[in-house]
Amino acid sequence: MTKKISKTDNEWQQQLTQEQYQITRKHGTERAFTGQYHNCKDSGTYLCICCGAKLFESDTKFDSGTGWPSFYQALTAHAVAETIDNSAYQSRTQVHCKSCDAHLGHVFPDGPQPTGLRYCINSASLKLHKK
Ligand SMILES: [Zn+2]
Repeated sequence: MTKKISKTDNEWQQQLTQEQYQITRKHGTERAFTGQYHNCKDSGTYLCICCGAKLFESDTKFDSGTGWPSFYQALTAHAVAETIDNSAYQSRTQVHCKSCDAHLGHVFPDGPQPTGLRYCINSASLKLHKK
């Protein structure tokens, strides 16, 4: 079992930038094409900006044209958790960091093979650890 990380809002605000805080702790979404990683082709591992958990590999990143970093697979089944989000007019599946519950983005069933999934993730919730 992964150990859960929990901090107060105040502690997260100290650690994160305003944008990172809004997105990861308040379920925000960065504007398309404004993030640091949507066009990034560097190889490495994408970590959770909040807790440093390994979430995605650059090998599974693809150019979705959406303006957000997109992956067809999470690093492991234990890296991320999914919950149904009914807050928008249509229900979507939210993706969280399993270790600290940071909001990462959403997953859609229109990605490339082999999974057919598209993890649409905010740059602000990620930190690339380059190889
Ligand atoms: Zn995390």
